[in-house]
Amino acid sequence: MKQLRAIRGMNDLLPGQSPAWQYVESALSELFARYGYSEIRTPLLEATQLFSRAVGESTDIVEKEMYTFDDKSGDSVTLRPEGTAGTVRAAIQNNLLTSPQRLWYTGPMFRYERPQKGRLRQFHQFGVEVFGIDGPDIDAEILVMTARLWRQLGVSDQVKLQLNSLGSSASRAAYREALVEYLTAHRERLDEDSQRRLERNPLRILDSKNAQTQELLADAPCLLDFLDSESAAHFASLREMLDAAGVAYEINTRLVRGLDYYGKTVFEWVTDSLGAQGTVCAGGRYDSLVEQMGGKPTPAVGFGLGVERLVLLLETLDVLPDTLEQQVDAYLVAVGEVQSSALAAAERLRDELPWLRLQTHCGGGSFKSQMKKADRSNADFALIIGEDEAAAGQVTVKYLRSDEPQQTVALAELPALLQS
Ligand code: ATP
Ligand code: MG
Repeated sequence: MKQLRAIRGMNDLLPGQSPAWQYVESALSELFARYGYSEIRTPLLEATQLFSRAVGESTDIVEKEMYTFDDKSGDSVTLRPEGTAGTVRAAIQNNLLTSPQRLWYTGPMFRYERPQKGRLRQFHQFGVEVFGIDGPDIDAEILVMTARLWRQLGVSDQVKLQLNSLGSSASRAAYREALVEYLTAHRERLDEDSQRRLERNPLRILDSKNAQTQELLADAPCLLDFLDSESAAHFASLREMLDAAGVAYEINTRLVRGLDYYGKTVFEWVTDSLGAQGTVCAGGRYDSLVEQMGGKPTPAVGFGLGVERLVLLLETLDVLPDTLEQQVDAYLVAVGEVQSSALAAAERLRDELPWLRLQTHCGGGSFKSQMKKADRSNADFALIIGEDEAAAGQVTVKYLRSDEPQQTVALAELPALLQS
């Protein structure tokens, strides 16, 4: 039979890679806890309409990237391509929006894209969504929180913050008109994708990667010149708070984001170290989405962070802790007819030393072959129980990473020895 393979762009996370993921995952969940954020988990599968309405009909995601199918009763369902829509739905449905909410989530997202480095069809995000706070102070909070993450992971110098304001929907509409007028006058110089976007989603032309389009955009009207006074004040105080907190940023007036729901603050944390897929974390304010989805008007701000890209960045910069390679502290070697004593000794050790990561040899074999496995496990010591040790209630401790001589101790003394 032909060997079955995983679907293109959907990767297995192998044992050798999971320590790096666990490291990133605990850094993030601990960070969120330190800022008083609570976790929310929503289904991977939602009604298709949720995404077409929340993310926007004319976005790349809804136009061409969704995994959509009819379920057995003929209802159209979609594997979530992002986390905001489901979080908003859950917050409305479960009446969470009667008071401010600071939420975070993590899990797989699905987009039918062309797989390449840092771009997959099943990828993973951590995300934050804050509801019910309209001031720039909360925008600043989620940015200083992410800045702390970069410092903690040792990548501060390689990840830069780009910031923009999209203003109110009225100021965006005025800008949109000016932009369309300018670009229509130079229509023939636009790339094909951008020509198509001119009618449907002209702001997205601003982040076209096409060189000639980029050139044309250099003289285009500037979004920030169209800001309404409230958005301008919001943006100014956000900048002031970031300056005071020592978080550096660059204003990028062409930063628009690919999802329709954003207004006012938008941002991306980008790196030069990953090639074309350089955005590690991206987000912004979406004050009108909750109402648009049927909830009462509720201001909101959030971001999504790509786990694959972050892990790739940590690997590329070689800043993962060396200790991640070690998955066990001790390896129990059991030679001869000693399985029962070995099992009992191992369980007793685990009772007394909850921190100890102990792997017990199973399946028999010679002393030599078991010691080879102990060595390959990267453990610091081998705990050896042979027939003599079993009879005497003893264990031999052999140090695998130092020259210290091995010693044989009573089982009862072993916890104290390992503790030291
Ligand atoms: P891009 O411009 O790279 O396509 P995006 O604007 O579509 O990103 P968002 O929807 O804002 O991305 O998602 C937030 C983050 O999730 C991105 O900054 C990125 O780190 C990650 N991400 C998005 N799409 C993918 C993907 N297909 N594979 C891996 N990570 C992704
Ligand atoms: Mg995308």
